[in-house]
Amino acid sequence: MTRAPEKLYDSRTGEWSDVMRAFGSFDYIIVGGGSAGCVLANRLSASGSFRVLLLEAGGEDRNPWIHIPLGYGKLFKNPRVN
Ligand SMILES: Cc1cc2nc3c(=O)[nH]c(=O)nc-3n(C[C@H](O)[C@H](O)[C@H](O)COP(=O)(O)OP(=O)(O)OC[C@H]3O[C@@H](n4cnc5c(N)ncnc54)[C@H](O)[C@@H]3O)c2cc1C
Repeated sequence: MTRAPEKLYDSRTGEWSDVMRAFGSFDYIIVGGGSAGCVLANRLSASGSFRVLLLEAGGEDRNPWIHIPLGYGKLFKNPRVN
């Protein structure tokens, strides 16, 4: 198991923060808040017995083709969403 860094870089503010120190330790760290990551985080945190950290690096899903049925055909070759 790798040791968590004491500081995290926030690409939006360009600053390093003491997030890990402020929030303490976690039982589970999930990398990626997509379909699987969100379900996993929800299931693990539902009991209230575990401290769960969900890390998400992606942007918002604002591209309209994401929300239109069969719109994914327009996005298969778009590296920003796929
Ligand atoms: C345009 C499009 C339309 C789709 N439409 C449908 C549909 O209608 N129905 C359907 O069943 N499936 C659909 N899919 C497929 C479905 O989205 C995927 O199969 C599913 O989301 C995969 O889930 P996942 O949790 O494995 O990955 P994702 O949902 O892709 O989650 C991975 C997450 O990890 C994050 N991540 C990656 N690297 C890092 C990192 N280093 N640090 C932190 N976070 C990170 C990403 O930002 C992302 O949020 C579609 C896919 C696309 C691209």
